Order: sequence, then structure tokens, then C-alpha cells
Amino acid sequence: MRGFEQDIQFLKGVGPKRAELYHKLGIETVRDLLTHYPRSYVNFADTVRIFALSETEPGAVRATVLRKGAAQRVSGGRMLYKAAASDGFTNFEVVFFGNAYAFDALIEGEDYVFYGKASRGGGRYQMLSPQYQKADRLLPMQPVYRLTEGLTSKMVASNVAQIVEKVSDSMYDPLPDALRASHGLCHLSFALHNIHFPENENALEAARKRLIFEELLTLQLGLFLLKGRCRKQTACTMPRTPLDAFFAGLPFTPTGAQLRAIEQGCADLGRGVPMNRLVQGDVGSGKTVVAAALCYTAAKNGFQSAVMAPTEILAEQHYHTFEKLLASCGVRVGLLTGSMTAAQKKNVRRQAAQGELDVLVGTHALVQQDTVFGSLGLVVTDEQHRFGVAQRAALAGKGGNPHVLVMSATPIPRTLALILYGDLDVSVIDELPPGRRQVKTYAVGSDKRERMFRFIRSFLEQGRQAYVVCPLVEEGVSELASAEKYAAEVAGRYLAGYRIGILHGRLASSEKEAVMRAFSAGEIDLLVATTVIEVGVDVPNAAAMVIENAERFGLSQLHQLRGRVGRGNYESVCILVTDARNPQAKRRCQVMCATGDGFLIAKEDLRLRGPGDFFGSKQHGLPALKIADMLEDTALLAEAQSEAQDILRRSPDLEEQQFAGLRENVHSLFGQCAPNGYN
Ligand code: ADP
Ligand code: MG
Repeated sequence: MRGFEQDIQFLKGVGPKRAELYHKLGIETVRDLLTHYPRSYVNFADTVRIFALSETEPGAVRATVLRKGAAQRVSGGRMLYKAAASDGFTNFEVVFFGNAYAFDALIEGEDYVFYGKASRGGGRYQMLSPQYQKADRLLPMQPVYRLTEGLTSKMVASNVAQIVEKVSDSMYDPLPDALRASHGLCHLSFALHNIHFPENENALEAARKRLIFEELLTLQLGLFLLKGRCRKQTACTMPRTPLDAFFAGLPFTPTGAQLRAIEQGCADLGRGVPMNRLVQGDVGSGKTVVAAALCYTAAKNGFQSAVMAPTEILAEQHYHTFEKLLASCGVRVGLLTGSMTAAQKKNVRRQAAQGELDVLVGTHALVQQDTVFGSLGLVVTDEQHRFGVAQRAALAGKGGNPHVLVMSATPIPRTLALILYGDLDVSVIDELPPGRRQVKTYAVGSDKRERMFRFIRSFLEQGRQAYVVCPLVEEGVSELASAEKYAAEVAGRYLAGYRIGILHGRLASSEKEAVMRAFSAGEIDLLVATTVIEVGVDVPNAAAMVIENAERFGLSQLHQLRGRVGRGNYESVCILVTDARNPQAKRRCQVMCATGDGFLIAKEDLRLRGPGDFFGSKQHGLPALKIADMLEDTALLAEAQSEAQDILRRSPDLEEQQFAGLRENVHSLFGQCAPNGYN
């Protein structure tokens, strides 16, 4: 939007004090206030008779004030004001407590629309402390704003009204006329008037649709531009190599979904422009093999691959997996993590630089720091959840512009993936390896611990292994002490004779690895762990999991944790232990017990946490949206996305004059997260 850059204090009635309040809401300029859209509206338009008004739901009644009574003092010293009114059918009372101002403004004989709830005291209808407007100057829908202490919606509305007065049809609209016409969208001026002060429901709907469309279109244009910019740069071309040797070394037959993803990735590698692909699949769907196949192709073409994991323990595990999958076909795999000795690191770096390694696995710091590759051709990042758009762009721009493959274990509803990963191509692994069974999930109270461990024991007796996840709960007790105490109790009371291991964050990385290795090798029956096992750990013989204090985890986290079991061909179980009573925690347990579908769970997680939390711009590197709702506006999103594609086909850099406004939009939306800015 052009103009309106003045400081908020330029408005009449906004002094330093109110400006300070606005600052708290992130409102600095007049434009910020103009785009501080209402949260909801009070509907004065749909009036009912007083007898039809509910005691629980507020509504509007049009009525004439007949008589104003004398003020009465009630207990506690407060003043009570009553006026008799008639809706033309029934007489009733309008009652105000303590609010002389509201009462005094009423004039006998005049018509008003009162908004509030009804009550039925002493055989007569009353409205207690209603809002009201004069019927002949009715604003049918009053805006309700997100506020901060000291501000009211009325104050905001009066400040906004001053700005809106200056908004006219001659204002610049970033959406070209033809585009508006083809999508049935109103002019920006109409939208701004009616989003704040709607004439009626239809006008509001039109305003919302238009503003949401513009926001989503801007977002999609930005993401596509980012993607396109990465595309223009040349990259290491990797012609197809036969994968027979790689497939021959696998201990299983890949699923159709895995083959499809591998096929898509290999096609990308051969194209001469950098791959920018997301492999999305539920936990245990077998994403690792896809990454390994691409590393294999890179190696056979003489290029190196960097594989990045979010934690050391995952990096170590990937290292072992990649080595298992690749060493037999002549691909050399190395590991680099922060906790290795300086000499070890130096040695690995030298090997990478001199091309003695084909695949280097490590934590994110690996590629971001000064590790030098002889010929880096492919970057794989796992669990990229924490990876924002800007970081992806930075990676893609690195050195020789390597191909980028990201693997997400956090399933996101497809429509949302369109937004979050709009700069990526997506391969979805929607098929689990054969033989997988649903992990039976139960929620129990801590009073059932005895019985629960008898149940767990039955798994151990059959040769299976089990996890217990126990987050640190006691204030002031170290993670180590709490895990050790718990393990000792389990060993003493419930599972005597079984081998119990402890995994927690305070262990040195070599110790963690030793524990994981022992668990993996079946030398430990029960692993008591803090959340370090959260992502990626893979031990197919582990068939039972207990999650203590399950209320401390979010839904997606619980799903990730549960994904550690049910990875082999065994009947598997997950027990959520919680005494929590709050409805959100209960709901999470219910969802977990009812479904194993990661996409469904992600959707429910979004619902429970709210998109604001989920889409926090820091987490994803995505700009915050003002009006579009990621969950609700999916149809408009699809429309905006295809429009964005059309526009960029015609005008690849938005260079046409008619798109100048949209280009400015992209600038201001992405300014803070585009690494190099848009020029
Ligand atoms: P995730 O997608 O969670 O990263 P992994 O790649 O770790 O999943 O694979 C999960 C487990 O499934 C591993 O033990 C892996 O060896 C096994 N696996 C992967 N693909 C198949 C397949 N096609 N058939 C059988 N087992 C498979
Ligand atoms: Mg994985």
C-alpha cells in the first residue's frame, strides 16, 4: 500500500500516551493502524424483539426510550440507572451499573439499537449494561480490535475513522484492474472502508476476500521469486547413474513412494539447475533411503554431499545408516560433530577438502561454518522444521550452488505445505514400508504404573526392547539425577533383572553414542531417556514406549516420540502417562489414542496451538500475515498461487509497470527475511 507512512502521532487525538499504547501493539505508522484489521464485529444490524433475545448470546434490539428513572444507590455504594424502553411490542428495562455517562446520553423519545444479553428479573425483560447506538445514525457492524490495556475498540475505531476518511477510490491499488476483475475482487479503497466499518455482511465478505487474496498473492509471489532466483544459477549437473548397485545393497525393497521420490530427485540432479526439493513423509516412512540414493548419484558423478542433522546424536545415527547403505557400493562416508576432538575434526575437514570423502554427515554448523569441500554438489538437511526460507536461500547460494534436499518429519497438511515450502518442490512419501502396524496407544494415570510395567515386561519377555521417556519434572533436580532416580526405581520395583540404560542431554556425545549403540545392538532392554530421542532414532526391535508426564509434550512432539516404536514387524504399544486434567492435555492424549496419521495429528496440533504459534515467523522464516488464516483460507490460497504463477510467467521479475505495486508489496513483506533482498 502506498502512502500513510506518517507517524501515528500525526493523527488528531493521538498524543504521546496513546502512541505508546499503539507501539505496544506494534503500530508505529498510520499505515500500521490502517492495517490493524478488526478481530470481529458487534452486529447491530440483525435486530430481534426483546423476547427473542437470549440470556447467553448477545444480540441487538431496536427500541424507543420511554422514560429515564432516577438514579438509585445500591449496596456497595454503586449507582444504578434504569430506563424504560419499548421495542414496539414489549416494554423492558435498560439497566446500567455505575455508568452515568452511558445513561445520560440516552434521550427520552428517541430510537436506539441496544446490543447485549437479556435477563428476566422479576417477570420483566431487562438488558444489563448494553452497548447502544442511535438508530438514525447506525453503524451496522462495530469493529472489535485487538487491544492492549488502556485502549478500547471505540478509541481505535475513532482513530481509524480519521484515516479511512482520506481513503478514496483514487488511491493506488496494487492489484491491477484486470486482475481484480478476473477474480471478482473489490477495489482496495472499498476493502479498507468495509473491513473497518462494514456496510453489511456482504460488503465485509468482499473486503475480507480482497485483502486476504492480496496478502496471499504477495506471499506466493515472494516465495516463487525466491525459488526462481535459485533456479537461475547454474549448478553441478549430475547425469543419471544406474542405481542397481545401490538397490542391491539395501536390506529391503523400497516402497513405490520411495522409488517415486528417488526418481524425482534424480531427475532434478540431472537438470543443470539446483534442486530445491522437500521430501515429506510421516515418521518411519523411510526418507533416509531417498537421501542416500541421491548421495550415491552425486558420488558416482564425482560430487560430494553434506548431510546435516539438528542434533549430534542424529548426526551420528545418520552416519551409521549412510555408511551401512553406501559403503558397500564404494561411497566413502565421514562424520563431523562439535564434540569430536580438534585433531579429529581437522582430519575430517582435510579429507573433505581433498575429496577423500564422498558424504560428510554432521550437525548444521558443519556446512554453515568453514568446512571446505573439494566439490560440494548436494546438501541434505534432515528435520528441516527449524529451517526458514531465508536459511534455505542462503544455503542454495553457497559456493558452487549445490542441490538442496530437505527431509521433513513434521507432516504438515498439504495445503499448508504449499505456503511454508512454496519455494520448494515437494515429494510426498505417503506409503509406509510393508508390515508396519498401528502403534496401539493408551493413556493412563500414574496410579496405574505397576500394571503398566507388568505390561511392558511382557514385551521384554518376548525379546523386544522398550523406551521410557521421562522429561525433567522436579524443579531444581538435574536432568541426570531425575533420570537416574527414575531408572533405579524401575530397576528395583518393576523390571528387576532387565538391563536398563540411561540417555540424557548431559552425557558427552561419545557416551550417548555408546548407550545408543548398546541399545541398538540389543544389549540394553529398557532405555530411560529424556527427550534426546525425540527425532530420528531408529531401533526396529523397540516395540514399547512409555511417555511419562505426557502433558508436557505437544501433539507433534508426542507423535515424533511414538514414531520411535512400531518400526519393525512387531506389535507395538505406546503408553501415555498423565494425571493432567486440563482439557488441552486431555485432548492431545485422545487424539494420540485415536489415530496414527501424522497429517491428521499435525492438523489437530495446529488447531490446538493456533496458527500464530505454529507459523511464528522466527521458526519458519516466513513473514507474519495480517489477515489470511492459513487453515481456513485454503481455497483462496490455491487461487492466489495459480495467479502468482501466471503473473511471473508474463513478468518474471514483476518488471511490468502494472505489477509495480505488487513488487513493492513483496519488498515490504519479505524485506526482513529475504537474505539478499529483492532487487
Ligand atoms: P524416516 O522417514 O522416519 O526418516 P527412516 O528412513 O529412518 O524413516 O526409516 C525407518 C525404518 O524403516 C528404518 O529402520 C528403515 O531401515 C526401514 N525402512 C525404510 N524403508 C523400508 C522399506 N521399503 N521396507 C522395509 N523397511 C524400510
Ligand atoms: Mg529420519
